[in-house]
Amino acid sequence: MPCFAASSETEDANTRGGAIFLFHGRLNDFFKSSREKPLVYTFKNHPTVKHAVESIGVPHPEVGSVLIEEKEVGFSHLLKGGERFDVFPVTGNWLYRDSSLRHHYRGRPRFVIDVHLGTLARRLRLLGFDALYSNQYHDHEIALCASSERRIVLTRDINLLMWCDIVYGCWVRSQDPDRQLPDVLDHFALRPWIQPFHRCTVCNGRIEHVERADVRDVVKPEIWEYYRKFYRCSSCGRIYWKGTHFQRMEQLVSSCAVTDR
Ligand SMILES: [Zn+2]
Repeated sequence: MPCFAASSETEDANTRGGAIFLFHGRLNDFFKSSREKPLVYTFKNHPTVKHAVESIGVPHPEVGSVLIEEKEVGFSHLLKGGERFDVFPVTGNWLYRDSSLRHHYRGRPRFVIDVHLGTLARRLRLLGFDALYSNQYHDHEIALCASSERRIVLTRDINLLMWCDIVYGCWVRSQDPDRQLPDVLDHFALRPWIQPFHRCTVCNGRIEHVERADVRDVVKPEIWEYYRKFYRCSSCGRIYWKGTHFQRMEQLVSSCAVTDR
């Protein structure tokens, strides 16, 4: 059974036949204590780096690189004992770069979002992102969707991110929706992909322009008289126009345009 302990003594790892891990930056969010302190990880046989990192408590999608004496290794690297590993978080445009840990993500970022993150899902849709969400999802459904549709998982469940089917994802740190959106935009460098007013916030369907005459009997007469342009969700049929809802959306978009980190 592997175990780990905080230590500043390199010798500890050698005498126990273990290895030392030092986690950097945001990866320390997964520890209640021992921030930026070396951890001694002891083990039997020769586990992989991925197994060791997750046994310590850090889900693999959060890791950007793993180095032994400044040499990068992959998740399948086998521990021998006595090594020191530096583990770094993902940074910058990591999603779109190949690394020793994973291939780069192809195409426009798409998401599958865990239960209890409904507001985050709606706000991502507002910014034009394809964001699947249900408050009925089970873990295996999210993992399967992430794997089969190559979607990025957003969750508050650290254990879910450790599923091997999940390649791209992040642990949403904050419970405050006003913090969650900028955090996710930063984590995946999403701002260049923002495309407001392209997704239905209710069902995630695409929004398309619809002829004004076609909605005359669908919207209230005063709405139809006042507005010139209308849009319709291709999935649920909901009608949109650039009213007060759109002004709130514009405020959200402009607030997301500049990172506050
Ligand atoms: Zn819809």
